[in-house]
Amino acid sequence: MIIVSACLAGINCRYDGKSKISPRVIELVAKGEAIPLCPEQLGGLSTPREPVNIQSGTYVLAGTEKVLTPKGEDVTINFIQGANEVLKIAELVNPSLIILKSKSPSCGKTGVAFKLLCEKGFEVLSELEWEEKQ
Ligand code: SF4
Repeated sequence: MIIVSACLAGINCRYDGKSKISPRVIELVAKGEAIPLCPEQLGGLSTPREPVNIQSGTYVLAGTEKVLTPKGEDVTINFIQGANEVLKIAELVNPSLIILKSKSPSCGKTGVAFKLLCEKGFEVLSELEWEEKQ
């Protein structure tokens, strides 16, 4: 089983209410080989929602780096909760691979969910890395 970012599978879960379709990822889900998940929605954030910035220089999972909206709303807790929910599901299904959307504050290489899943020993690739290997 593979876990994929839900927006890659055509789910409109991005902050702007849209998706970022990867036809190859959709194919995996359609064949029953992948589960689509959105850490930000699992963290309790609504869709659409404000885009966010991660304050640089520290590490959010240690609680020392904040995730803020442009208006200064602190949504760090939602990002940590969402990453932990994806981790729980990963521990249940023990995926052979996790494919996450690049350049996202949750799913991107420096994102909260990506870092947590790597730290816990799962194999995680961006959709771009994965597509290059196909
Ligand atoms: S958190 Fe991940 S799955 Fe959800 S919209 Fe952002 S990139 Fe897609």
